[in-house]
Amino acid sequence: MDGEAFRHWAHKAADWAADYRAGLRDRPVRAGTTPGEIVAQLPASAPEEAEPMADIFADFERILVPGMTHWQHPRFFAYFPANASPASVIGEFLSSAMGAQCLLWQTSPAATELEIVALDWLRQAVGLPEGFSGVIQDSASSATLCAFLTMRERALGFTGNRTGLAGRPQLRVYTSSEVHTSIDRAAWFCGIGDDNLVRIPTQGPLRSMVPQALEAAIQADKAAGFVPAGVVACVGGTSTGAMDDVAAVVEVAHRHGLFVHVDAAWAGSAMVCPEFRSLWAGVEQADSIVLNPHKWLGVQFDCSAHFLRSADDHLATLAIQPEYLRTHAHEGGDTGIVNFSEWTIQLGRRFRALKLWFVLRAHGLEGLRQMIRNHVAWSQALAARIACEPGFSLASTPVLSLFSFRHDPGDGRDGDAHMLALLQAINDGGQLYLTPTRVDGRLAIRFQAGSMDATADDVDAAFHIIRDTAHALS
Ligand SMILES: *Cc1c(COP(=O)(O)O)cnc(C)c1O
Repeated sequence: MDGEAFRHWAHKAADWAADYRAGLRDRPVRAGTTPGEIVAQLPASAPEEAEPMADIFADFERILVPGMTHWQHPRFFAYFPANASPASVIGEFLSSAMGAQCLLWQTSPAATELEIVALDWLRQAVGLPEGFSGVIQDSASSATLCAFLTMRERALGFTGNRTGLAGRPQLRVYTSSEVHTSIDRAAWFCGIGDDNLVRIPTQGPLRSMVPQALEAAIQADKAAGFVPAGVVACVGGTSTGAMDDVAAVVEVAHRHGLFVHVDAAWAGSAMVCPEFRSLWAGVEQADSIVLNPHKWLGVQFDCSAHFLRSADDHLATLAIQPEYLRTHAHEGGDTGIVNFSEWTIQLGRRFRALKLWFVLRAHGLEGLRQMIRNHVAWSQALAARIACEPGFSLASTPVLSLFSFRHDPGDGRDGDAHMLALLQAINDGGQLYLTPTRVDGRLAIRFQAGSMDATADDVDAAFHIIRDTAHALS
């Protein structure tokens, strides 16, 4: 593709993107595709000869777009949001246009230095004290895996990378039953193992880990010859928004010398609003915190912010400097050089700070706060409205913008089967997208408002669709 063709198709893509966003309300939120439908429309092998861009673009629109679920749809109330504000899309396009690798300071100095600055802006924006340093990870799952590796290495005196784990003490990590599966997988992948991920019971409406039970579990493990390594606290669990008491968890953990990682992947973005920060009080004492601007802060996926109270143990775990990556001109002394590939699992790194910087500037912190405040207020009002409807009940009360509900048709039908039928009918209607969860053993429908383009009218429409669909099934 020559320069003029690139210009032409980039313009075409920009026009398509603007039209796509403007027309989202007219599309069904969730794809109605059946499995294999897309594969059946695509050739089995790549073309030997170059094809015209016009044909490729036409097939994109004709075959692929109808098979997409529209995460930027204003009535996407499923899972958690994955907002891609137009400002972040432009930042991503520029990053993609330069196609730079940002593994070392030297391989793209501006990318490294902007990452430092943008994450420090974000640190201040969510109210973390000075001294925390940040790195952009591809996802919360990667940040959590890094935290588990650090827990492992601290507990093994930083020898595990060298010796492997055979014959070493059995390490233990503590968490609640409300955490995301990325915690389970981090325990698997770092070699600590699922059997050594100890689930502490929870209590209260926020389903918080019981600190006394954490203390008792650590003591029992020590007495039994295990080596406790760390604790993962949950700030905004995926199912019902569970919140651990971070201050209490840290107090117990640090008394035993354990590393504390806080998973605030979704809820962390809300901390740009000072009034929500009591939900993670004590976080300034945590050792590691992950929050995803790619969820609720409008930064196109992927952009996960990983903050460390001290980067020393993290770097002692992850950093390696082979000769071919050394940048001799910038070594020695206090050069202030940061090589972010030493902070992450993968070596190659994209210029993700650019889109974060675009979003923070284009919306301003006040714009982002207003968006989040709206989502929280609309969700809480909707929960109150649903709770008052005959046949409906809340399965979990709102935590920020997330709650879940049930409907009982009142004829003795199996509750779970009815909930699945209701969910399917709502989603098949195309005007909303909701997802299920299990609360206290029974199915419920989750609702979270988080789309940047959602309005109060969209949430109002959700109420009517949910109520009318339930009545139609009763
Ligand atoms: C979304 C989510 C994750 C996983 O985030 P990725 O960035 O997709 O890895 C982990 N924990 C919580 C609480 C989440 O909401």
